[in-house]
Amino acid sequence: MPIQILSPQVANQIAAGEVVERPASAVKELIENSLDAGATDIRVEVRDGGRRLIRVQDNGSGIPTAEARLAFERHATSKIVSLDDLDRLTTLGFRGEALASIAAVAHVTLLTRAAGEEVGAFIRIHEGREVAREPRGTPTGTVVTVEHLFANLPARLKFLKQPTTEAGHIQHIVTRYALAFPERRFNLVNDGRLILQTSGSGKLYDVLVKVYGLDMARQMLPIEINEYPTGTRSANPRISESANPQSLIRVSGYAGTPALHRSNRSYITLFVNRRWFQDTTIAYSVIQAYHTFLPSGRYPVALIFIEIDPADVDVNVHPTKAEVRFQFDRAVFSAVQQAVRKTLVELAPVPQVEAPFSATTPPASGVQWSLGGIDGWASRRDALLGAGREHGDLTVGAQPISPQLPASGPQLPLLRVIGQLNASYVIAEGPDGMYLIDQHAAHERVLYEQMLAQHVEDRLPIQPLLEPLVLNLSPEQAAVVAEDLEILNNLGVAIEPFGGASYLVRSIPAVLRGDEPQSALTEIVDGLMQNSDTVASSREALLITEICKRAAIKAGHPLSNPEMQELVRRLETCRSPRTCPHGRPTMIYMSATELARQFGRT
Ligand code: ADP
Ligand code: MG
Repeated sequence: MPIQILSPQVANQIAAGEVVERPASAVKELIENSLDAGATDIRVEVRDGGRRLIRVQDNGSGIPTAEARLAFERHATSKIVSLDDLDRLTTLGFRGEALASIAAVAHVTLLTRAAGEEVGAFIRIHEGREVAREPRGTPTGTVVTVEHLFANLPARLKFLKQPTTEAGHIQHIVTRYALAFPERRFNLVNDGRLILQTSGSGKLYDVLVKVYGLDMARQMLPIEINEYPTGTRSANPRISESANPQSLIRVSGYAGTPALHRSNRSYITLFVNRRWFQDTTIAYSVIQAYHTFLPSGRYPVALIFIEIDPADVDVNVHPTKAEVRFQFDRAVFSAVQQAVRKTLVELAPVPQVEAPFSATTPPASGVQWSLGGIDGWASRRDALLGAGREHGDLTVGAQPISPQLPASGPQLPLLRVIGQLNASYVIAEGPDGMYLIDQHAAHERVLYEQMLAQHVEDRLPIQPLLEPLVLNLSPEQAAVVAEDLEILNNLGVAIEPFGGASYLVRSIPAVLRGDEPQSALTEIVDGLMQNSDTVASSREALLITEICKRAAIKAGHPLSNPEMQELVRRLETCRSPRTCPHGRPTMIYMSATELARQFGRT
């Protein structure tokens, strides 16, 4: 066959594959167009998971009749003129591909009227061919209707999932835009059923409630707007000279409390300049911020809004615009991590106890405690913020660790020790109720923060061994030690290869003083081994965690009153007293009000 140029119709159909992967991609593009048109009311209707019908209606600026047909041409856009415009981009669209792509693989009708025009325009396009065009009356705004999606692409049709699955993807898309644009009203109707409606009140929390439900929304902590410098711009010919050489990254949003964890990372939602994007590295920075707050293998819920100069982010990475590239990726990574970490350290609440029995039906044997909903963090936050407390940021591994660690004053109220329960729990009274403290978890937390602080200040006490100890390890254990040799030595385990799988140990961290060094070290190495997938930057913190786990008082160990008082006093000065370094709670709390309620006093 001779070389020939594809007809625009075929070219559009090929290109459409990249832009419109499934019904949800069409919905995404149409919503973006409505948002770009300044619409304050966006209604989405789908049938059969979008296969039969997708309709997006808005009250935006509309398209002038003279331009309506042009909007369906490939690379036809009113949003940019030159590549430089991408550095000042304020719209979601800019590639001029969406309408052309959708119209190439479906039957599309456009009904639109521009503000200031008397009559609107109606256009119908079937798989790239115009089949009708006429003037028509309609309110200002635009309605795009997509039918028979992929009817001409059987291969694509075959890959579509069940309508409910496709509808789920669509709901996801609408949800993300509703979260990013709380000041606009969104409405999603699926097969005649209203499944999402936001008020457009402008309050993100209102949308959060609609999207996640009240229970979950109440467990989300607001990330106050935090600003971080990006670092100095390198000479970038595309950035005009007037641009500020120091730009800022602004981070805000919501972070779930540590109690709100999930089995995968899909609940970490990221936006840059209100554009949703996917980025495993930034998602990882959120996960790292929860380090020691969450049980291992669990992931947080978070909504992160990044605002940055458009010149510092490249959104033109992929036709679906779902990936971006940051010029200062490290700065963005650490900004997100610090903002989330700060929120958690300041606001994460103590889990509260809800007694699972009612006053009228006491349980037959023993009382079972359970961790219930979390309340009262808002007042706690206000108290903290109102006090104007400044916390440095606790980060681990490669990130800086604030040196004045446990010195920032009590984060718990003063507690009075009442006694010990089951040789495992300390019962204490605070000004506002009862605290039940897990002695092992609490001691782990105390030792962890103490060791971190000492390590940062380079004054970690070390216990030399009277005689060097030969550790004979299994090959797996030896491999872990070989990999973490430097970290072990940094943390006071003076250890060197001794041939094969053997190692010679000359000192241990002083917290392990009095312990049997052989079994302590083996247990710590096993702990490192079990968590071998943790990335390098946090292995140091992981090792500290393992050392503290071994060094902390065990459950079942009776404590004297002065010992309990000492433990509680030290816990009060911890930066994050409410969770152990593994993320489990150190304490549960029952408020005086709840006690009164349980006893029928209120
Ligand atoms: P892009 O959004 O990248 O510019 P599209 O193919 O999505 O490309 O849309 C082409 C043009 O059609 C847009 O630039 C805009 O001018 C116009 N347009 C599309 N949808 C709407 C809408 N809902 N309201 C107003 N104008 C629209
Ligand atoms: Mg568009």
